[in-house]
Amino acid sequence: MTFESLNLSADIVSAVAELGYVQPTPIQAQSIPLILAGHDLLAGAQTGTGKTAAFTLPLLEILSREESSTGHRPVRALILTPTRELAAQIDDNIKAYSKNLKVHSTVIFGGVGMTPQINRIKKGVDILVATPGRLLDLHGQGHVDLSSVRFLVLDEADRMLDMGFIHDVRKVLALLPTQKQSLLFSATFSDEIKQLANGLLHNPQHIQV
Ligand code: AMP
Repeated sequence: MTFESLNLSADIVSAVAELGYVQPTPIQAQSIPLILAGHDLLAGAQTGTGKTAAFTLPLLEILSREESSTGHRPVRALILTPTRELAAQIDDNIKAYSKNLKVHSTVIFGGVGMTPQINRIKKGVDILVATPGRLLDLHGQGHVDLSSVRFLVLDEADRMLDMGFIHDVRKVLALLPTQKQSLLFSATFSDEIKQLANGLLHNPQHIQV
């Protein structure tokens, strides 16, 4: 199994090769074809399995195939994650994977000043990585346009609920277009996660690693 055989472009394959990735991990091998085929996904995976690349590589592939404009443009993919560390790490990974692409990402999280985050959003962002509270704050102030989001990732959904973010997550979901591809990643599946998944995902494919 190679990254080429997963139908990822040469620009993405060479970027992951530079990072020393020789072959896809099991979650990448399973999820990349399903995401490229447009399915919603319910994935059971722990940190350390390569799950970040499992959802970011196919999103980069899809977004890079679409025409990208410069200047202000609305967010096309939203990745919600529970902590600032995780959010920053995902954004760092996206930047490394997309170094040969014209797809731009940025990250927003609480506990730091809003102005630099607002300025980066203003420059035009295709992929926004966010913690729920800061996203709601910046959206409430009119700095984030979520009306064009067509891809949603809920990463570490169980931690997001454990940390008490369910109401914020639900508020964010209510701001998004109904027509979108949604991917939910969680290490565990409580009734609350299943309920969230049932309301969000349409005919999801299930993956467990
Ligand atoms: P994650 O589970 O997404 O936090 O990834 C865990 C670690 O594995 C990160 O340091 C990634 O850079 C690395 N990684 C992800 N995919 C691969 C791969 N296919 N080959 C080697 N390392 C990888």
